[in-house]
Amino acid sequence: MRCPRCRAPMIIVERNEIELDHCLECHGVWFDGEELALLFTSLGAQDAGRRLAEIMAPRGKKPRERALACPRCGRKMDQVAVGSGAEVLLDRCRRGDGIWFDGGELHAVAARLGASGAEGFARAAAFVEEVFPRTLPPEAAPAGGPAAEET
Ligand SMILES: [Zn+2]
Ligand SMILES: [Zn+2]
Repeated sequence: MRCPRCRAPMIIVERNEIELDHCLECHGVWFDGEELALLFTSLGAQDAGRRLAEIMAPRGKKPRERALACPRCGRKMDQVAVGSGAEVLLDRCRRGDGIWFDGGELHAVAARLGASGAEGFARAAAFVEEVFPRTLPPEAAPAGGPAAEET
């Protein structure tokens, strides 16, 4: 599968029996369907699906940037705002195929939930930091590392 942001082929990263698609060029991450909630739940986060839904508000305003195409169905994705003020803008497939995080956005969302004191989310935030380093140059990526494979 190709990255919806930069079109580079993404690698599959498997953790806790959940497969994520990760772009080593722009550091974005794609979660199919409800995988993000499943991942957080597997890390002990309480009520992950509901809490994620709570902080993700469909952005009613005009899109801030050109809509990305869903890597699964190819249709334009909706932009979803997380938080107010310095908000994070995620891209979500209207058909529920999944959700796209640009590099660093997943960290921001996990950190926000972790800071909220919601049980288990601090662990989820630490997990995200561990699995997705913020500034990993492509050449430093683990070649054929554990559970990583070319798509
Ligand atoms: Zn990319
Ligand atoms: Zn789609």
